[in-house]
Amino acid sequence: MDEHKLGYKGNGVLQELEILTINAKAEQEVILSKILEKNRAAEYLNKFMNGSIDISAFKSQVPVVTYDVVQPYISRIAAGERSSILCGEQIVELLRSSGTSRGEPRLMPSISEDLYRRTYLYSLIMPIMNKYIQDLDEGKAMYLLFVKAETLTNAGIPVRSVLTSYYKSPQFLQRKHDLYNSYTSPDEVILCPDSQQSMYCQLLCGLVERRNVVRLGAVFASAFLRSISFLEKHWCDLVTDIRTGQINSNITNTTCRLAMESFLAQPNPEVADEIEVICSSKSWKGVLCRLWPNVKYIEAVLTGTMAQYIPMLEFYSDGRIPLVCTMYASSESYFGVNLRPLCSPKDVSYTILPNMAYFEFVPLEDGLKSVQDDEVVENDKLVSLVDVKVGCYYELVVTTFAGLYRYRVGDVLQVTGFYNRAPQFKFICRRNVILSVDSDKTNEEDLHGSVSRAKKILENRNHLLLEYTSCTDTSTVPGHYVLFWEIKYTSEGTAPCAPLDAQLLESCCIAVEESLDYVYRRCRARDKSVGPLEIRLVEAGTFDALMDLLVRQGSSINQYKTPRCIESGPSLKLLNSKAIASFFSPRDPEWTV
Ligand code: AMP
Repeated sequence: MDEHKLGYKGNGVLQELEILTINAKAEQEVILSKILEKNRAAEYLNKFMNGSIDISAFKSQVPVVTYDVVQPYISRIAAGERSSILCGEQIVELLRSSGTSRGEPRLMPSISEDLYRRTYLYSLIMPIMNKYIQDLDEGKAMYLLFVKAETLTNAGIPVRSVLTSYYKSPQFLQRKHDLYNSYTSPDEVILCPDSQQSMYCQLLCGLVERRNVVRLGAVFASAFLRSISFLEKHWCDLVTDIRTGQINSNITNTTCRLAMESFLAQPNPEVADEIEVICSSKSWKGVLCRLWPNVKYIEAVLTGTMAQYIPMLEFYSDGRIPLVCTMYASSESYFGVNLRPLCSPKDVSYTILPNMAYFEFVPLEDGLKSVQDDEVVENDKLVSLVDVKVGCYYELVVTTFAGLYRYRVGDVLQVTGFYNRAPQFKFICRRNVILSVDSDKTNEEDLHGSVSRAKKILENRNHLLLEYTSCTDTSTVPGHYVLFWEIKYTSEGTAPCAPLDAQLLESCCIAVEESLDYVYRRCRARDKSVGPLEIRLVEAGTFDALMDLLVRQGSSINQYKTPRCIESGPSLKLLNSKAIASFFSPRDPEWTV
């Protein structure tokens, strides 16, 4: 095999990974020492360390914190104070995470060299895939990648998502020479800030190159499925563009349009005919295999809340294309990779890379009982990366070069094993999150607050909300939140069951949505990645029946609490069987940057 190709196979990177994981303990100590050395003058760190860079002083004196503690420092930097209040290097951007605090997006500090850490993790993905699947360099990837609009803080620091930052970086844009990272979409199309236009053009490119495509994917499964449902709606227009070699007049973004004009270049009636036949078929079961016959796998995050999308992906791929989850990452830090990419999405474990950040873990008694945000985590409770135990549950805590110290990421993980000395984790859930369709993450408290606000509207009209629970419904695309409400009519002297007033329930839907957090409202109103919220009214006595059912299944009557979210199974079946009417939010909630 020629050396050139061997280089792309990335054997060197895999050997490096071997050494890194064998020396996980030493590597972690080096990372922590470097962070303490570089950031020793930071105001935040100094408060606890008094200029020391001693690791044991760090472990005993620096507290474990949540975003609320870091937020005032971030706000000061955003307003123009020196980065050195948090870290030794210049903070060059603030990364807008999908996690929120008090309804506002969390902003994570980031320094220039973070880009190299992220790039390192990405550089492992194809060498790992190559070990399992041949000839990936003989075709292209149709990856649906999107950027989001960015803003500037008062002090002029860019605020953007971590992926936007990466896709705009030279590391991403100069990957052209890399045979394994050849994408069907031109960069101008990926970088188009209008996600609808971008999606249209990316699908168009992927369709034109259909026989050349060997990989499909998106970062999260929700975005991939959203694109497939977009295709279901717009394939006629796409086929026309391919047939005529002319891009649809709805593509108004100039750079995107120019790129597509040169991409399409000439009419292609044969490909247009093929796609038309496939897309006009009654059932779209297995459509991905027909549209992209040479695809070897679909890549997307399908772990955590994304697992709800596995059945839909299996439907579109007819269970014949492997679903691959490659990496685990966040705005705070990138974490790890899946070294067995062809395993079932349900069995995915991520091996944490010991050179990304300094990792510690809060042990959890059982996976479902997390430590609350306002509970103090004692320093001596924390376990270091190499000391976690197989089978146990932990909450992830990171210390980064960019100025997060013993920061609770909020993810609950379970140790499944070790790769050399580096532990492997199954992603269990996000602490407290009960509803999530896309990047929205709604916890029980947020949901309760929103429902409480909406129920006042009912009370003003002589109705009482007796009980409620919720679920996400991903049988619609995009998925949406469903609230099951049991309502009692309270006005005396009238019929016990007043006629249902659609307007009243619709205004409740709006009230709930308006008081859900920023990311939810953005997903609904701007990104259109979450559908209108639905209230399903259930008949009288439903929640009693639910309690009976759960008690029969083993819940204690003494400690019974109505679950605020029902994922699946007999409980959901019961609720749906008792639904008597359903109402949807008639408009988008208010949303501003
Ligand atoms: P963000 O900071 O908005 O990029 O969100 C990061 C969060 O997304 C993580 O802390 C996880 O909760 C979730 N996440 C990222 N990668 C994965 C993955 N592979 N599996 C499950 N959840 C993930």
